[in-house]
Amino acid sequence: MTLPFESGVRVTSPFGVRPDPFSGEPSGHAGIDLTPLDPEDTAVRAVVSGTVAQSRMVTDPANRTSEWGNYVSVFGDDGRMVYYCHLAARAVSQGDRVEAGQTLGVEGRTGRATGVHLHLEIREGGVPVDPSLPLGVANTAGAEKPSPQTSWPPRMWYDEAAAWAVEAGILRGTGDGLALDEPCTRGMMVVFLHRLYEKLRCTS
Ligand SMILES: [Zn+2]
Repeated sequence: MTLPFESGVRVTSPFGVRPDPFSGEPSGHAGIDLTPLDPEDTAVRAVVSGTVAQSRMVTDPANRTSEWGNYVSVFGDDGRMVYYCHLAARAVSQGDRVEAGQTLGVEGRTGRATGVHLHLEIREGGVPVDPSLPLGVANTAGAEKPSPQTSWPPRMWYDEAAAWAVEAGILRGTGDGLALDEPCTRGMMVVFLHRLYEKLRCTS
């Protein structure tokens, strides 16, 4: 399952459903509250591919759906429904086909929310299930999961290989501000790629 934020996620409120002792209905927190690891990374992305079932804001306070504010629901190819709630803005419409990782909207605090976050809810046959399991993050406030994209390549050998490439005259610049030095011969690039490949093999 793709993480809903490209930089990774932090749990601000865990999932917790239990049957109400009187009605037997599920109560508690039917979803999980998440914020991006990088505060600038506010685009909310589809966690699975599917079709947009709803993209709307319910304003009637008598309708409990209004608590979700701006929300998008996607009927996933895996047969589950995923709800993305409290959005500041929505980027898709009902009936749209969306791919995992595609931007659905912008993180916000519309509806019943005390702060900016994403309320992510997953339902199987209408019943909320624990989203922390498919997301691969602990169901605990403060738990974090960095995105595989941003934790790759491992920083240590990336820095080492980049420093070597600068020294060898293939790249110029420092840190993340690296650029190819013109002209870079094919031979130099092959050596650089081979070095990265060797390091990849060692760390995978
Ligand atoms: Zn929530």
